[in-house]
Amino acid sequence: MASNYDVIVVGAGITGSSVAYWLKKKGVGSVLLLEKGPGPACSNTGKSAAVVRTFYSIPLMARIAKAAVDLLASLTDELGRDGGFHQTGYTQFIPPDWAEMAVEKSAMHRSLGIEIRLFDPHDFARDHPWLNPEGVGVVVYETNSGYADPVQTTEAFADAFVAAGGEARFRTPCRGLVREGDGITGVLLDDGPVGAGAVINAAGPWAKSLAEFANLDMPMRAVREQDTIWEVRPGRPLPTTPVSNAVDAAYLRPMGGTRWLMGRGYPKPYVEVDPNNYKLTVDNEDAIDMCDRMARRIPPLQGAKLVEGYAALYDVTLDWMPFVGPRSGVAGYYDLAGGSGHLFKTAPIIARELADWIVDGEVRDDFRQFSHDRVAAGNLFQQSFGGNRG
Ligand SMILES: Cc1cc2nc3c(=O)[nH]c(=O)nc-3n(C[C@H](O)[C@H](O)[C@H](O)COP(=O)(O)OP(=O)(O)OC[C@H]3O[C@@H](n4cnc5c(N)ncnc54)[C@H](O)[C@@H]3O)c2cc1C
Repeated sequence: MASNYDVIVVGAGITGSSVAYWLKKKGVGSVLLLEKGPGPACSNTGKSAAVVRTFYSIPLMARIAKAAVDLLASLTDELGRDGGFHQTGYTQFIPPDWAEMAVEKSAMHRSLGIEIRLFDPHDFARDHPWLNPEGVGVVVYETNSGYADPVQTTEAFADAFVAAGGEARFRTPCRGLVREGDGITGVLLDDGPVGAGAVINAAGPWAKSLAEFANLDMPMRAVREQDTIWEVRPGRPLPTTPVSNAVDAAYLRPMGGTRWLMGRGYPKPYVEVDPNNYKLTVDNEDAIDMCDRMARRIPPLQGAKLVEGYAALYDVTLDWMPFVGPRSGVAGYYDLAGGSGHLFKTAPIIARELADWIVDGEVRDDFRQFSHDRVAAGNLFQQSFGGNRG
């Protein structure tokens, strides 16, 4: 089939929007960004808590997260507009049985140039009287991390892509991939096939069905993730950063003013759903549980009122790490999906390194492991923290 585009990217979440931008920046002639919804970040990215932290146990992820923090903090220099990053710092409560590992991992982080500090929980509580330190092993504090507005960040990439000459088509579902022999040569749209030199599957939880359409295996589950927004009584002492509470398996993020986002963290039940048919509103008992867990640890949250709750999807792979890059034996096809509930922060850097791989054929050795080839090779990632904590 004749190529109409050099590259077609399916999906305009944070992964698709950012890789499309980097490809244009690297001088790729014609790039088409396809999105079935009304605009960038209209799906899971738009519902993301968008907490930006670096505390990963895998050095590759810590390296990428550090680069992501640096990029998000200076996004105006890159894209000409602010991506909505709040560099507040980030706080994590670690249970006693991982305290030793946290000390070990923080040394790895410092070797990568990440500013990280560890505190005895009782010492920390003296300066932060909102904390109940009982049962906390150690407090990890990252100076340069924070949280972002995921829609603003994604729109900044998508708009910069279009400004650089890229073509974005919204409300345009990709119905399938065109496969000829061992190559992917285009996509199927409602008005017929469109040829491409390369197709990037950045379709989030729908990436699996898109890949399977072309007989490409994608071991991935779509699981429902609920977040809630709460109104806290004014004037109470509260954190100034997002908080991951690994002791009580819950997380908290400032929303501005007296509003706070709360969610349940790993470990918890992960319920697989049909990405085209799942409950979009929160379950009452789960909302109450999220707030109870956080309020035990941060008592000023007690009495918070539920403003809203919603559900979106994690696209969870076998090892909670994304599939990124080419696969052996399939020409013209690249994975960029399987964020497993933690890809917002790192997506722009992962997308940049994927663009280098596609355009220049250059890839760092550590990055190669992201390829779906790791499944057949039995070379899955091994992490220490579990689930989407990486
Ligand atoms: C509630 C929640 C909280 C989270 N919190 C955090 C966090 O604090 N920090 C963090 O780093 N990460 C977090 N994550 C994870 C992070 O948000 C995701 O990993 C990331 O946004 C995934 O982006 P994506 O572009 O891969 O997928 P998506 O955002 O799902 O985008 C895929 C896009 O592809 C489109 N699409 C699918 N199929 C087709 C098709 N056939 N044709 C055309 N378009 C198609 C979809 O409409 C969608 O817009 C959270 C996720 C959720 C759901």
